[in-house]
Amino acid sequence: MRATHIQRGEANNLAVTWDDGHVSDYTLQYLREECPCAGCKGEVLFGKVYRPATLPVYSPGMYDLKALTPTGQYGVQASWNDGHDTGIYSWDYLRMICPCPECTAKREPSLLE
Ligand SMILES: [Zn+2]
Ligand SMILES: [Zn+2]
Repeated sequence: MRATHIQRGEANNLAVTWDDGHVSDYTLQYLREECPCAGCKGEVLFGKVYRPATLPVYSPGMYDLKALTPTGQYGVQASWNDGHDTGIYSWDYLRMICPCPECTAKREPSLLE
């Protein structure tokens, strides 16, 4: 799975087209909140998630995307206007957090069984 096209939208969003034709539309705020770096998401050690001790606080510019830098075939690195740039979004991760109804339905455990 990898992205074939990434487009910055007008409405502070990012549209990603995948090689299977799927299109994911993320708001920048959502992407930042799902930042996969250890400082934001914690680290997984021995199957347990260790969250950072301090909760992320709002800083000016944190939801403004300054740049997306491709990291080879692996994914993209996001730089935000508050200076945060340690989040590397692998293609698998980006696809996993796709907010569209179809993908959300696949992720949520079904309550209708
Ligand atoms: Zn982060
Ligand atoms: Zn989706």
